[in-house]
Amino acid sequence: MAPVVTEAIVLHAFDYLETSRILRLLTRESGVQSVLARGARRSRKRFGSAMDLFAQGIAEIHTRPNRELQTLGALDVTRARSELGTDVGRFTAASMISEIVLRFPYEEAAGIFDTVEECFDRIGAAAPDRTLEAGLGGAWRIISELGFTPALDVCANCHAPIDPAVSVAFSHSAGGALCARCGAASSGARTIPASARVALRSWFEGGDATIPSNADARAHQRLLREFFQQHLGTDRELRAFRVWEQGAWSAA
Ligand SMILES: [Zn+2]
Repeated sequence: MAPVVTEAIVLHAFDYLETSRILRLLTRESGVQSVLARGARRSRKRFGSAMDLFAQGIAEIHTRPNRELQTLGALDVTRARSELGTDVGRFTAASMISEIVLRFPYEEAAGIFDTVEECFDRIGAAAPDRTLEAGLGGAWRIISELGFTPALDVCANCHAPIDPAVSVAFSHSAGGALCARCGAASSGARTIPASARVALRSWFEGGDATIPSNADARAHQRLLREFFQQHLGTDRELRAFRVWEQGAWSAA
C-alpha cells in the first residue's frame, strides 16, 4: 500500500523500547495518527528534530488497515518550533493545547490543522508575560473550530439578545451566556463580567485580548477548565491543563 504523505504536527512523543519512539501526530489529511518511529533513538540523523514536541513537517506514514499504530517512514521538518521549549509559559500552554486536541472527541475537522498550526505559532511568538492569553485564545479558537462556540450575545437558552455591557450567567450545559431571566432560573451557572465576553469575542474573531488582572486570568482558566469538564466528564484528568493552570501562578 502506498504511504500517506501529509503535513503533520507532533502533539505527543514518548520513548518505545530501547531504540524507538511513538508519536501522536495531527495530520492535515487524516486526523490524529499514532506512529512508530523505528530506530529514532539510535539515529538522530534519520529523524532529527522530528522527534521533538510541536515540530511540524511532511510525514510519510505507512498504514495498515485495522492497526492503531502505524509506521513513520520519514518526517521532514519544516518548523522545529524550538521557541516553544525555551520558555515554561510557552511550553505549558502548547502542551495544554496538544492535550485538548488529543482528548476532545471530534470527527474529522478540516480546519483543525490550520487552527493548531496558527495557535502554536502565536504561542511561540508571545512574549513570556503574554503566553497565558495566547494559550487561552488558542484553546477557545480550537473549541470554536470543533463546533462548540458558546453563545455570547444572545441567550443560549431562549435566544433573546443580551446587553453587551452587563455581567451574565454563563452555562456550559446550556451552551453559553444566559439572559437575566434564564440566568435566574439556572442553577450552577457562573457569572462572568462584560470584559470576559469582550475577550472571548475577540478570540473567536481571530484577534488578541488583554486580560486586565491575575484574578481575571484565573477566572478565564477556570471557565475553560469547566468547559472541558462539561464535555469530557470530570473523571478524566487533564494533566497538561492542570500544569498550565497551576504553573502560571506558582511561578509568579
Ligand atoms: Zn434567556
